[in-house]
Amino acid sequence: MATPYDAMWEQLNLDLDAHAGLLQVLGKFYGDIYLSQSGRLKGMEYVDFVISEIHGLRIKELQEAKAQGKKVIGTFCIFVPEEIVLAADAIQVGLCAGAEAGTDAAEKVLPRNTCALIKSFVGFKLSKLCPFIESCDLVVGETTCDGKKKAYEIFADYAPVYVMEIPQMKNACDRQLWRTEVLRFKDQIEKVTGNEITAAKLRQAIHLVNDRRRVLQRLGQLRASDPAPISGRDALLINQIGFYDDPARFTQNIGKLCDELDERVKTKSGIAPEKTPRLMLSGCPMAIPNWKLPYVVESSGAVIVGEESCVGARNNRDLVDETGASLDELIDALIDRYMRIDCACFTPNQERLDNVVTMAKDLKADGVIHYGLSFCQPYAIEAFKVEGALKKAEIPMLSIETDYGMEDVEQLKTRVEAFVEMVR
Ligand code: SF4
Ligand code: SF4
Repeated sequence: MATPYDAMWEQLNLDLDAHAGLLQVLGKFYGDIYLSQSGRLKGMEYVDFVISEIHGLRIKELQEAKAQGKKVIGTFCIFVPEEIVLAADAIQVGLCAGAEAGTDAAEKVLPRNTCALIKSFVGFKLSKLCPFIESCDLVVGETTCDGKKKAYEIFADYAPVYVMEIPQMKNACDRQLWRTEVLRFKDQIEKVTGNEITAAKLRQAIHLVNDRRRVLQRLGQLRASDPAPISGRDALLINQIGFYDDPARFTQNIGKLCDELDERVKTKSGIAPEKTPRLMLSGCPMAIPNWKLPYVVESSGAVIVGEESCVGARNNRDLVDETGASLDELIDALIDRYMRIDCACFTPNQERLDNVVTMAKDLKADGVIHYGLSFCQPYAIEAFKVEGALKKAEIPMLSIETDYGMEDVEQLKTRVEAFVEMVR
């Protein structure tokens, strides 16, 4: 069926037939997983609208901004400092990597035993399925895990790629390395945009991104209530669209949604009865449209109350100090904030163990599901230590490893249901 955006997608060199097929599948998936929920908040209408227009209106906005000279920068990791991009008057979009479409193409250039997230971003590019990637003036990669690091070498044959080196430890010399990398990134972004990053511009950008983090922190805190005022699926979706939508518009709309949640908390009304088993997810990021596990969990008699993940608390936990007077001071504040990220790519990574336990306690979680993408070594190996830390705090954990395929849904459901019964 023709859409008002066909000409734009054609100009972006998408494979129109494959793209139409993808949108059709996603529309059905969204209807089944999201629109079928009862007791949704009025504020979710904004989220549903963003999703319905994610490849339409939002891409049109990006094209219009580009026509006025703005640059679009794509990223795959929360380590890339968005504040630098915004301070140069550019737009940053988190590129999704949560769908299986494109896997066949990806497996022509990557080993099959590569994590689904990596196969997804390479596959989307090779299959010409993603209007965000095609809108990017620069795609920023990072040396986090080995899979991503090496995949960017292949990706660079198809898109303009710049790679940031991320430290793997948190000693003084690692901070120094990160400082050098952030400054190198600043130079690169200034070069791509032609705009100088000043202290005033950077402060403004820090404030904008902090505001988005603050509203997501507020959302996270409201989920500590019993009964849970919002489903885990909806909360995950909010975190996911935070990577795409305009930051000020997102903050404003999610602020209103949180006001609604406040009311629910006051009146003790929720999306599931009080004492419904409360589970927290922890581990690999769930990029849009990866909704498989949340759907399985919430159709197994539990409610998800938090995500210890990059599409979740890891992205919002820490703010950047806004008080620096000079550009140097503000850059130092950025560096300090990003060095606190507790990705499993770091060694040792005691911060994550502490954060998982604190978060599970704060959210009054009855149990934690550790989520690992198949072939992701950093999170798979760290799951052992996470389980140990949770055990000490007497919080049970279930470890799940899966990918984006639907073949294991029934098997996952059996395991999750048994875990829910155990924590009940
Ligand atoms: S899990 Fe690590 S590598 Fe992946 S997005 Fe988060 S910080 Fe980046
Ligand atoms: S999920 Fe694991 S293997 Fe995949 S990109 Fe992230 S850190 Fe790397």
